[in-house]
Amino acid sequence: MGRSTLVSVLCALGIAGCAGRAPEAARSRESLQRVVAEVSAEPGQGAPAAAPGAAADEAAAAEDAEAHDDGVEVDDDFEPPVEPGVGAAVHSPLASMTEAQIEELLAKDPAALGPMSLGPTNAGALFNGIRMPEDPRWELVDPNHAWGTRETVESLERAIAEVHRQYPGSPKLYIGHISARSGGRLSPHKSHQAGRDVDISYFLDARHRWYQRATAANLDRERTWAFVRALITETDVELILIDTSVQRLLKEHALKIGEDKGWLDEVFQFGSRKPRPLIRHARGHANHIHIRFYSPIAQESAVRAYPLLVKRGAIKPTTYYVRHTAKKGQTLGSLARQYGTTVEAIKRANGLRSTAIQAKRVYNIPRAGGGPAAPPLKHVTVPPRRLPPPRVADPSVPERRDDIGPALGG
Ligand SMILES: [Zn+2]
Repeated sequence: MGRSTLVSVLCALGIAGCAGRAPEAARSRESLQRVVAEVSAEPGQGAPAAAPGAAADEAAAAEDAEAHDDGVEVDDDFEPPVEPGVGAAVHSPLASMTEAQIEELLAKDPAALGPMSLGPTNAGALFNGIRMPEDPRWELVDPNHAWGTRETVESLERAIAEVHRQYPGSPKLYIGHISARSGGRLSPHKSHQAGRDVDISYFLDARHRWYQRATAANLDRERTWAFVRALITETDVELILIDTSVQRLLKEHALKIGEDKGWLDEVFQFGSRKPRPLIRHARGHANHIHIRFYSPIAQESAVRAYPLLVKRGAIKPTTYYVRHTAKKGQTLGSLARQYGTTVEAIKRANGLRSTAIQAKRVYNIPRAGGGPAAPPLKHVTVPPRRLPPPRVADPSVPERRDDIGPALGG
């Protein structure tokens, strides 16, 4: 069979969209959700029921997944938040440099190339990442895994600063994982691999702890909404994951303070049937917000420099995925041989508990990038920000009076 079964490069894993693949996407999302626990459990054993302690391990893993269920963020299978092709093309400073110039910098002063977010968030890497600084306005829960692109760090700072501008003396937020220093797999997440994903707490009442569940009783709606609003209106945010129960509280609050309903329906998944909401539900996000930022410069720099970084050994090739429709008689072993990967890797990419596969089902096959047959990294297109409509001027608002003339002056 060979080539003909090698269905297109898995567009979804990361940047580009998979429009028109909804049923497949839904199916694989479901299967991924089912096994986040297993993926998160890490030590790769197929959880044999008889093994001593296996049940306890599994329960712990399930709990962990529930609490920290970033595997579900394989929203990579989600419909992309924006229509592909809409938005601004992005330029990296590396675009105007020659190959030789980039190579020289790489040899002499690699940091000068700037941060790069390489590949999809669930199979990517980070080069020249920047660590989120310490600050009284937040606490880094795990400073060794708080590395991101410059755009991620600055966007986060900006949204938090906006909350403090509106509400001076706000309590600190907790910032969980962003990425490891060089990106790549960061347990227990699927994403968080390319310096663009952030886990952060909600603003809760004064005594709150990291990973405390947000409820109607403890959620600080004003500050949390100010934060989310700033993310949407002032940063290049790609996706925000918030549990439906918390979306409801925030949306109700936003409506109450007079935000535009049409706009809220576009940004919130809760209570709306509009396509491509920015704020979506994913299991495990009642106790923290997951934010994914575009990092246009870092992503475009990566597109430009990736082949060279691989050639020079500065990074390992990032994984990419192909979709394979299984045929009768095929096994994970035969697929692993065909694609030059391992049974374990295929199991992990598809959340399989056993080695059984079914004919006609589509499987994601991980492959190492960087080789001559590997696809180049994808260019990024940052969509226009979704801004609320300008407020209709109220005749009673003072600036209106100037229009009417001096009669009302004084
Ligand atoms: Zn996360």
